[in-house]
Amino acid sequence: MANNYNQHQVKAKKHLGQHFLKDESVAEKIADTLMFKGYKNVLEIGPGMGVLTKYLLKKDVTTYVIEIDTESVTYLQVNYLSLAPRIIEQDFLKYDLNIVFNQEPFAVIGNFPYNISSQIVFKTLEMRDQIPEFSGMFQKEVAQRICSKEGSKVYGILSVLTQAFYDAEYLFTVPPGVFNPPPKVDSGVLRLTRKDNYTLPCSEKLFFKTVKTAFQQRRKTLRNSLKTFNLSDNLKANSIFGKRPEQLSVQEFIKLTQLIETNT
Ligand code: SAH
Repeated sequence: MANNYNQHQVKAKKHLGQHFLKDESVAEKIADTLMFKGYKNVLEIGPGMGVLTKYLLKKDVTTYVIEIDTESVTYLQVNYLSLAPRIIEQDFLKYDLNIVFNQEPFAVIGNFPYNISSQIVFKTLEMRDQIPEFSGMFQKEVAQRICSKEGSKVYGILSVLTQAFYDAEYLFTVPPGVFNPPPKVDSGVLRLTRKDNYTLPCSEKLFFKTVKTAFQQRRKTLRNSLKTFNLSDNLKANSIFGKRPEQLSVQEFIKLTQLIETNT
């Protein structure tokens, strides 16, 4: 268990997005956002000094942590002896997680490094077959974006791609003062729950491409922003092409992809 007496505190490094939670009640609240159903492994990204890890270790699951910072890893090894065999000293974005999980499902959780938030979500989406649940803390703006619906100003690529496969819930806001050092912005905690049927009824590759291309020029109508797709005039006469990407729900993006598919 944690013992802060025999180990220096880790010095926060800006380039690793280190803002350590100092309010234990927030850490406990984040650990409680997972439902712990349908998997026996949990992966925490960026445990730092283990404030959240401590609460995960009380749950009836096997907790793994992945941490890029050697100083934090040393701290964890000394203070969380039982965790030591499941500390992965690696970059989450680069590491092949199946070396550890061997195709088995696992949930993802963390008070994430904010400088790589979008990449964390994209890697999760790539591994969606193995990740039934995901929760944790981002910059508030990013958490809101992931959970936002069509028509919202912040609705974008991350919202559509995430919600195609997961139900996204914004859970609560966390102020800067509970971190050391405090970040400049508010933080937000969210939960993603994979949909029961998360296979799309269209080409998933084309879906990703369509969503990304459409939002590259979010003020334009789809007729204009999807020019590089060389679609027929007949297809572009469909009223959906008169809309802007921020007006389309996930379902409409799927329908759009199906239309494009039948035309090419
Ligand atoms: N969970 C801790 C620390 C949060 S700060 C707490 O709440 O106090 C974010 C953590 O992510 C830091 O420990 C940082 O070293 C780690 N980190 C940053 N980039 C990472 C990466 N690419 N892979 C794994 N961990 C990373």
